[in-house]
Parts: sequence; structure tokens; C-alpha cells
Amino acid sequence: MAFSPLTTAKTLNTPSTQNMFSSLPATTETYLNELKQGRFLIQQCTHCQTHLFYPRNFCIHCSKDTLTWKEPRGSGSVYSTTTVRRKPEAGGDYDVSIIELDEGVRLMSQVLGVAPHEVKIGMRVQLKIITEPSGQNKVVFYPEGVEHVA
Ligand SMILES: [Zn+2]
Repeated sequence: MAFSPLTTAKTLNTPSTQNMFSSLPATTETYLNELKQGRFLIQQCTHCQTHLFYPRNFCIHCSKDTLTWKEPRGSGSVYSTTTVRRKPEAGGDYDVSIIELDEGVRLMSQVLGVAPHEVKIGMRVQLKIITEPSGQNKVVFYPEGVEHVA
């Protein structure tokens, strides 16, 4: 009998992931483990081909449990964008955007590489996984063609 380690549950309560991940179902563990390894995965239903994110146990389109993990191409567009105001001494303004991947799924993330007010709806972006100072991996996006540091 194999037991899954419960240590992953601690990850859910850390400040930097709390907002994004606190309401996710059991498949979250697989998702987060893959993210730790530097892979961002979405799901695809093998019955109706619908792509899903965030992780679920059943297809939102046909309700079957025929979901498989898939690494998206990573290209997408800015679906909506907000500049969050913050004092310079606290790190300055930053972007919060909803990105629609070309697979059709949307996720809340951040566009880096340009000033927050330069992020525009419809802007083509490319997914990148960065490691935060805390050591946790985070999914961000850069405008296509913008150089970035891995
Ligand atoms: Zn389906």
C-alpha cells in the first residue's frame, strides 16, 4: 500500500501560492510536483479533446474522467490585465494578467519584461517558469520577442 507524502499540503499554505492554489482539488498535488520540476502542465480530455486548467478530476465539457496531463506550447495572449499599484519601496507597480493559452485555457499570471502599463490585451506572450527567491517555481509570461533571464 502506497501513501502519498503529505508534505505537499504545506506548499498550499505558503503565502506566495495561497491565492492561486488554495481551492484546487486533489489533482493539485500532481500539478505542483510537476511545477517543482520546472514543468507547467494542463490537462486534456481524451474523449472530447477539451483542454483544462486549473487541474480537475472530470472534464468540464463532457464530464468524463478521461483526463491526461499535457505540456502546453506555452504561447498565448493577454486576455485581461491589471496594474497593481505598490509603493516603490515595496517593489513598485506590478502586472497581474489573465493569459489565454493557444490551447484555449486561461490562467492568472504575470507579464514580465515590460513595464506593467505596457501590457496590453491581445499582446502575444510566451510562458516561462521562474524560480522565486523562496525557491518556489512560478509561471510567468514574457512578451514574444522580449529577452528574458532564465
Ligand atoms: Zn471531455
